[in-house]
Amino acid sequence: MQSVKSNYTWINGEMIATDNATVPFLTSGFHYGLAVFEGIRAYQTPNGLAVFRLREHMQRFDDSARIVGFRDLPKSVDEMMQAVCDTVRANGFGDCYIRPLLWLGEGGWSLTIDTGRALVAVTVWEQSVYVAKPADQGLKACVSSFTRHHPNAMMTKAKCSGNYANSILAKTDAQRSGFDEAILLDPEGYVAECTGANLFAVRNGRLVTPPADAILEGITRDTVVTLAKDLGIPAVESRLSRDHLYVVDEVFVCGTAAEVAGLTSIDGRQVGAGVPGPITRALREAYLSAVRGAHARSDGWLTVV
Ligand code: PMP
Repeated sequence: MQSVKSNYTWINGEMIATDNATVPFLTSGFHYGLAVFEGIRAYQTPNGLAVFRLREHMQRFDDSARIVGFRDLPKSVDEMMQAVCDTVRANGFGDCYIRPLLWLGEGGWSLTIDTGRALVAVTVWEQSVYVAKPADQGLKACVSSFTRHHPNAMMTKAKCSGNYANSILAKTDAQRSGFDEAILLDPEGYVAECTGANLFAVRNGRLVTPPADAILEGITRDTVVTLAKDLGIPAVESRLSRDHLYVVDEVFVCGTAAEVAGLTSIDGRQVGAGVPGPITRALREAYLSAVRGAHARSDGWLTVV
């Protein structure tokens, strides 16, 4: 994904030109990765530009900040939802990607949150393609040699910036070896998730996704389960081992940026027929109609800005 353009950024209640939205070098959040963020998308719909599952994203943002230990949050969930809408409107883009960030902005040099203060910002950039390949081709993945964080080493339910060093290690390694994406196993050796997306397998017409042990509980994951149930496709949370992935009928990943994308090979073994399978395609279609305002669920999930 290339971030092409961002005009305005909201920082601590003020809307300023993104070019002026700079952070001092002496900011402990920057030095130690102590920040939490969200990744949200707005899509053009028949009712205008609309943010997908805004409240759920801002609730997770608030939860992430509390999980890592911030006590005094600068803004409430409702205030942050308003800030997102204001920033989306100010930028005047069509489809766009929205990035709220809360960081240890002042103080915090003694390695405690309580000696610092949280600052908060929202920026927006024009959405370009995140998944580099056309949806009908599918992605080639490998199981990474890096392990997803143990939930008692990093807070896996928090979308904490520092967690993403793990994702970047795994994805860089995968792409340098010729794969598109990396699958991370949890510390016990079971499938966890991808670098920025959750994972589903399809076997005998049933969806299976890893339990919420070591993974980020994706909002798209929740959306996919709801859409699957609407389509009469059963979905269960269950541990998956690496070798399960080699024999299931379909595997796909899902996330705000990735949307719903099929994996067509894992560790050099073809998945199913080697193209995104029928359940992956049906769920991708349902997801894209939901985000574009063309699904029975859309009204409950979209906030027109
Ligand atoms: N796992 C990780 C590690 C992620 O970064 C993301 C993207 N936020 C996801 C899963 C998917 O989450 P969501 O569907 O809420 O975007």
